[in-house]
Amino acid sequence: MSAVVVIIGAGPAGARAALALAAAGIRPIVIDEQPRSGGQIYRRPAEELRRSHSEVYGEDHQKAFALHSEFDAAAAAGHIDWRPSTTAWAVHENYLHIECAGRPDQIDFDRLLIASGAVERVIPLPNWTLPGTFSLGGAQIALKAHGCAIGERVAFVGTGPLLYLVALQYAQAGADVVGVFDTSPFSRRISSLPAMLARPDMLWRGIRITTALAMRYRVKLRNGIRPVAIRGSDSVEGVAYRDADGRAHEVACTAVGLGYDLRPEVQLADLAGCEIVYDPGSRNWRPHLDAYGRTSVADVYVAGDGAGIAGADAAELAGSLAAHAILVDLGQKISAPTTMLEAHESFHRFRQGIDRAFAAPIDHLREVPADTVLCRCEGVTVKAFKETVAAMGAREINRAKSMTRCGMGRCQGRYCEFAASELLAQMLDLPREEVGRLRAQPPVKPFASSAGQEIRRGDS
Ligand SMILES: Cc1cc2nc3c(=O)[nH]c(=O)nc-3n(C[C@H](O)[C@H](O)[C@H](O)COP(=O)(O)OP(=O)(O)OC[C@H]3O[C@@H](n4cnc5c(N)ncnc54)[C@H](O)[C@@H]3O)c2cc1C
Repeated sequence: MSAVVVIIGAGPAGARAALALAAAGIRPIVIDEQPRSGGQIYRRPAEELRRSHSEVYGEDHQKAFALHSEFDAAAAAGHIDWRPSTTAWAVHENYLHIECAGRPDQIDFDRLLIASGAVERVIPLPNWTLPGTFSLGGAQIALKAHGCAIGERVAFVGTGPLLYLVALQYAQAGADVVGVFDTSPFSRRISSLPAMLARPDMLWRGIRITTALAMRYRVKLRNGIRPVAIRGSDSVEGVAYRDADGRAHEVACTAVGLGYDLRPEVQLADLAGCEIVYDPGSRNWRPHLDAYGRTSVADVYVAGDGAGIAGADAAELAGSLAAHAILVDLGQKISAPTTMLEAHESFHRFRQGIDRAFAAPIDHLREVPADTVLCRCEGVTVKAFKETVAAMGAREINRAKSMTRCGMGRCQGRYCEFAASELLAQMLDLPREEVGRLRAQPPVKPFASSAGQEIRRGDS
């Protein structure tokens, strides 16, 4: 009987791995909580929305088309056991726990590839929970999957390449983009150029995106800003910020796309027992891997943004490399993919430049007003977090969570962990890694049981 290989995630990393395995005669099981393959970047519009690949994916349309059509063909031919709309909610030894349409199930695997992508980083500011404020990913999903904008006049606030990309996608779709307000000073981009030259194609792409925003769509681009607050009573009415010289400004808008780059989603790797390490350059935690995506646990592999943020092209390479490792570990004799390894490495060197150029402005947390919401699921304010942590003496993020309930709600800390950990480290004057990271708890995502009740951690 051939080995049972399970892949979580059908984005660029998982889809490429599945195709490589299928080509080598292995029929992988691929699960994804989305109804269709593609992942974040190549997310497909709802079937009833008839938009062409070039309308949805711009200059990436050929890559999107290739990945979609190859994956669909392999699944239709039965070379891939494709299980859409299925959530992986726990890993225990060699069992993967899944749920589909309210029915829990488990798969006994021989090899597991986790290609579950990234989550967004948010730094709270007053009123960030007002209706009309979306994470950058949420803003993009509205556009890609549903063909609509998050508001009539949209401001993009935060930092990172996604900030500019989503703003351009909105401008191209005809939305009124009132500005891109980047917390990173422009000078940091210049000093990060040597690292970014590891991928001149990606650097050139970034330049083209910024130029198109400024020249073609006449979008206001501001660097080195400090967001002060989102204005509005019932919904977003504007954004207040200080420019690089400290002068106060306000811009009117009806929606805000907010985000401070991405971090790897490590919860499933954590549950599988993989070693997770801190990367000071990106201020993110990620699984410890070899060059092919092997983790510290035999039989478990990680590829794509879940291993370290490097973009879609790197994710496709990482998926192919992980498939290679699985085939070798299953006893196939194949030669080392040297060119692929070198290309993958160059994306990570480029990414080090991006991490420097668009570093999250964690110092802004020192000035966030006390009544600002830190954890929106549990409604924990900055003041409540700080006072409880100080009174009860928490010196580590899991203790802080149990004392304050910050990170204990539906999203399991996906939105607040980054800011809460940075805040705790600042309060204690400790390096960020010393306050640790939130331990993964099953279920990693809430889901509905067959009885129609939502199952959440802590429910009996
Ligand atoms: C919100 C968001 C938007 C982005 N937009 C862009 C963009 O426009 N352009 C760009 O260059 N980069 C974008 N990125 C970065 C980009 O997604 C990646 O570089 C690339 O897509 C990574 O590919 P991947 O296969 O590693 O992960 P992804 O493409 O994220 O795919 C991961 C897949 O795993 C699935 N999954 C996750 N957890 C589970 C689970 N527990 N059970 C079942 N399935 C699961 C997800 O549904 C998803 O389909 C975005 C990232 C995010 C988080």
